[in-house]
Amino acid sequence: MTDLTIRNVNVIDGTGAAPYLADVEIEAGRIKSIGTGGPATTEIDGQGKFLSPGFIDTHAHDDGAFFRHPGMEFKLAQGVTTVVSGNCGFSAIPLDPDKDLVRASGGILAGIEGDFRDLEGYFEAVLARNPAINNMMLVGHNTVRTLVMGHEARKPTSQELTTMKDHVSLAMEQGACGFSTGLIYRPGRYSETDEVIALAEAANPFDALYTTHMRNEGDRLLEAVEETLLIGRESNVHTHISHHKSAGKPNWGKVVESLQRVDKALGEGQRVTLDVYPYTAGSGRMIEYFNLDNISREFAEVIRIASCPAYREYEGRMLVDIAAADNIDIVDLVRQILTAPKGDRTLCIHFIIDEADIETNLRHKDMMVGSDGIPDLNGKPHPRLFGTFPRILGHYVRERKILSLTEAVRRMTSLSAATFGIKDRGQVREGYWADLVLFDADKVRDTASYDDPKQEPEGIQLVIVNGGIAQQRGRHTHIGSGKMLRYRRSAYSE
Ligand SMILES: [Zn+2]
Repeated sequence: MTDLTIRNVNVIDGTGAAPYLADVEIEAGRIKSIGTGGPATTEIDGQGKFLSPGFIDTHAHDDGAFFRHPGMEFKLAQGVTTVVSGNCGFSAIPLDPDKDLVRASGGILAGIEGDFRDLEGYFEAVLARNPAINNMMLVGHNTVRTLVMGHEARKPTSQELTTMKDHVSLAMEQGACGFSTGLIYRPGRYSETDEVIALAEAANPFDALYTTHMRNEGDRLLEAVEETLLIGRESNVHTHISHHKSAGKPNWGKVVESLQRVDKALGEGQRVTLDVYPYTAGSGRMIEYFNLDNISREFAEVIRIASCPAYREYEGRMLVDIAAADNIDIVDLVRQILTAPKGDRTLCIHFIIDEADIETNLRHKDMMVGSDGIPDLNGKPHPRLFGTFPRILGHYVRERKILSLTEAVRRMTSLSAATFGIKDRGQVREGYWADLVLFDADKVRDTASYDDPKQEPEGIQLVIVNGGIAQQRGRHTHIGSGKMLRYRRSAYSE
């Protein structure tokens, strides 16, 4: 007998096609039929609400969250059933338990436990914790480089380059979907373009991706886009630009030209895709944004503290407000925070993006959605961790009408699955894995704010992961039906 039938739903299949009323039958984790459902062990009345594929978060930093928070409530509550982790050059693999690579990531990889070394071992360790959602992995440049060269600011020797390539290739052999860089971070920023090309080439035999947090997202955004496109051309791999933005007020509007350059490359046959998060603030490890010898006052003034082990009382506050209250110069305050014990683990939120640029990004034909959420639940994380996907549906689809509902769902499901080689997912289709979300399009909205960021969204009624009910009417079932996914060739160019 059928395991589960969800009756009377408006199916948004994820391809961009118009919704239609049907029952959806699920058996052995997969969609058995879409039409008129027969009796089932469990039956749910969808009451005519929309049923779409579970959302795919193309930009996650959940490598360690799968250990710390295997219930992944902050993602599940949004209707996210699959994440792509290992972004911005920081990945759980390769790992050397004798080297402190997790600490070297400055908190981005926090939570990772175990004595695994490669993707096989990582998957095994995560599966032992019964994860709630699916995970596809990238292998990160910063992690590989730290493992092989430490934090040395120099070119690799040819032997070191070969060793790094071997790590990247091994990850791909074991099922990673690509190679990621974070060229703004250490030690990625010490690398020259040639090194990145050589490593991205390792993705080529697997037809895997090169994803990048580019070298610059502000004053030199356009040069960074050119470098990215060059790396993609020279290595001949599908290139994905992460969290596309132009940072800093003097640069607002540059996303238009940046997207033109991407469109030109697409026109010339290069494979390029992008994602964006729907917020005007970024977030990351605070120490990466400052030169302690020359602290930028202007940048300090747009910063809010998310998580700060050295000064918990600063969490959730703007630096300008802390400086005023404590009667200290903001430049001295930045130095005080960053040089304190564990100060380098401070996570900050910086208000650097123009709202109009977000809408420009979302209007771009194949712009995908990635949360970039950093799953540190201490303090006051960036609200994107809890709110990204409902925010697209509530604010940008329903209120702002920047894109249609079916198009938004396509960009958050089938397009992401095709791009990141996530096989048999991302569509409501017979035979596909039953990763599904039932939501009320009139009510869905994010409630996480900067002041109160750990709030689960409204309007997500049911989330199914591999056929199992993972969340229903706000209640997490903790069935742990997530899987670790192995890359099967991008279908984007087909
Ligand atoms: Zn990034």
